[in-house]
Amino acid sequence: MASVSAVRKIGAPRLEGKVAVITGGASGIGEATVRLFTAEGAKVIIADIRDADGENLAREVGGTDVARFIHCDVRKEDNIAAAVDLAVSAFGTLDIMYNNAGIIGPRYAIDETPAEELDQIYSINFRGMFLGIKHAARIMKPLQKGSIINAASVTAHTAGLGPHAYTALKHGIIGLTRTAAFELRHYQVRVNAVSPGGVITNIWDTVPDGRKMIGAFATEKPDLRSPVTSADNIAKAVLFLASDDAAYVSGESILVDGSHTVAPTTPARAIVLPWK
Ligand code: NAD
Repeated sequence: MASVSAVRKIGAPRLEGKVAVITGGASGIGEATVRLFTAEGAKVIIADIRDADGENLAREVGGTDVARFIHCDVRKEDNIAAAVDLAVSAFGTLDIMYNNAGIIGPRYAIDETPAEELDQIYSINFRGMFLGIKHAARIMKPLQKGSIINAASVTAHTAGLGPHAYTALKHGIIGLTRTAAFELRHYQVRVNAVSPGGVITNIWDTVPDGRKMIGAFATEKPDLRSPVTSADNIAKAVLFLASDDAAYVSGESILVDGSHTVAPTTPARAIVLPWK
């Protein structure tokens, strides 16, 4: 039987008193998560390279008592360290790290992929997330608490939907999540991943004709019949993993794709980026 103390009061904010850093928080899924987290009582550091969008969002969700923006390029370790340190200096602690910043890029045939393209995806989508875990752990380990969430993707669980490097490195995020969770459990720090299906966001501008292509799959409502959903639906899964409701969930990846990639014949299989 659940102990009474473990049961959250119905309607109570789910992140009251928690402090979060969200990389890539100025747009798309990150932005939706900033809005949801602050609505649920968290204080948030928005760490992104979109300065104007990030500043505006911080103001909109409550200003400096609730949210701060910091210019943070996740390719630069000192920028990530500064974002994490700002959480502590501005809001007193760090409970949640959402390593969300990412790009997709063009889909090249493997024998035509420029090495620079590989390096670029690696530096943001994998190295940037690794460094986010590293610096969150630096703060969370001595505090013996914390929830780290990494942005994976449906492409982390299947092949054929995205560019080679993107797909391979999202698979890598699952491995990174699991190995970090295995170590950090000794410090009461949980590490999980969220694997979204298609969401129409600015990331599709990093793909030639990407917005048009993903838009063609959107249905009137982002419900279970659609292979494309809303950023809010992804943010709700992130909220679960960030909250104490997921107190014993670690090393896991939650697919948020409405089941569209569970079988080889489902419509999402048709979401194939054009070859460049
Ligand atoms: P988005 O473009 O709306 O948001 C990504 C954010 O990351 C942007 O604000 C961007 O400025 C920021 N960013 C990019 N490079 C950065 C850098 N070097 N340093 C700091 N910030 C940087 O895209 P989104 O769809 O919200 O994507 C968020 C995450 O979700 C990504 O990791 C992406 O791979 C993943 N994802 C998205 C989809 C989708 O269909 N949109 C599907 C699966 C997974």
